[in-house]
Amino acid sequence: RRKKQLDVNDYVNGVLENNRAILAQTITLVESNAEKHFDLAQEVITKLIPYTGNSIRIGITGVPGAGKSTLIEAFGTYLCSLGHKVAVLAVDPSSQISKGSILGDKTRMEQLGRNKRAFVRPTPAGGTLGGVARKSRETMLVCEAAGYDVIIVETVGVGQSETTVRSMVDLFIVLMITGAGDELQGMKKGVLELADAIFINKADGDNKLKALAAKEEYNQILHYIPPATKGWETRAYTCSAITGEGITQLWDLVGDYIAHTKETNVYFERRKEQLFLWLQETLQSQLLQRFYEHASIKVNLPKYKQEIEEGQISVTLAAKKLIEQYDLLK
Ligand code: GDP
Repeated sequence: RRKKQLDVNDYVNGVLENNRAILAQTITLVESNAEKHFDLAQEVITKLIPYTGNSIRIGITGVPGAGKSTLIEAFGTYLCSLGHKVAVLAVDPSSQISKGSILGDKTRMEQLGRNKRAFVRPTPAGGTLGGVARKSRETMLVCEAAGYDVIIVETVGVGQSETTVRSMVDLFIVLMITGAGDELQGMKKGVLELADAIFINKADGDNKLKALAAKEEYNQILHYIPPATKGWETRAYTCSAITGEGITQLWDLVGDYIAHTKETNVYFERRKEQLFLWLQETLQSQLLQRFYEHASIKVNLPKYKQEIEEGQISVTLAAKKLIEQYDLLK
C-alpha cells in the first residue's frame, strides 16, 4: 500500500510539532530540485516564515582536519545539556568541483545526532554552490520553525563557500590549528576578514603552548584586518574539542556577541541585508538560467562565439545583440 502523500498542513504541523520524521521529509522536499516539488515546498516555507528567525545562527569554517565536526559535536552536546536545541547543517561546495564531499559522506557527529535535543542534517547532495546555499538557507528556516534555537552551519574553507556561509549567519567562527611553518598556510588570508572570532583548536597536550603562541600571533595580525562586524573586535582564542577546554568560553563569546550586536542594531541590519542579498542572488541565477535556456539564445550563442573567435564581432557587441534577441523573443 502506498504511504499517504503529505499535504501542506501535514508538513507545516509536523515541523511545528518537531516531529523528526516529518522534519526530515520537509527538508528533503525543500532540497528537491524537481520542478513538481517547487510549489509545495514554497507553500510550506511561506507558512513557516512566521515561526522563523528566533535562533542564533553560527557559521563555522576550517580546513579539513581542523576539528570542525569534533568541536561541533562537543559544543552542540554542551548546548543541549544547557537546554538548547541545536541543528547542524553543512554547506559543502565540493560537489561541484570533485563530485565528492569534502566534509565527508561518513556519518559525522554520531553522538550529537543521537541526542534528542539535536538535529544533524547530512550535507545536501550535488548542485552548484548557489543551489546548496538556497537549500541550507531554507533548511535553516525549517529548523527554526521546529524550535531549534541554535543553528550551526559548517563549511570547509574552499572557494566561495565561506563568503556564502558568512551571508547566512549572525556570527562566523574560523577554526584554526597550529601547523608546521606558516600559520596561514592552507587557509586563505581573506577568510580572517570574515571572522568574528578565531579559535585555535587542539590546544591540548604537547600542542598547547604552540596553540597559545599562535593565538598571540593571530591577535597581532588581526590588528591590521578590518573587522567583519561593525563595532566588534575579532580576537583569537584557543580551545580543545577533545578535552572540552574553551567550549564554555565559546558559548560565552556567542552570547556577548549577540547582545552587543543587538544593542548596536548591527544584528538586525545584517539579517535584513542578508535577506536582500539572498533575493538578489536568486534573481541573478534565475534570470541567467532563463536566458541560457531560451531557444534563440541556444541557437545564436554558438554562432556569436564563433564570430568572436574569428574576429568578426567584438565581445561587447555580441553580448548586446544576444540580449536584444532575448528581449525581442521572450
Ligand atoms: P574536520 O575535518 O575539521 O571536521 O576535523 P575532525 O573533527 O574530523 O577532526 C580531525 C582529527 O583531529 C580527528 O582525528 C580528531 O580526533 C582530531 N581532533 C579534533 N579536535 C581535536 C582536539 O581538540 N585535540 C586533539 N588532540 N585532536 C583533535
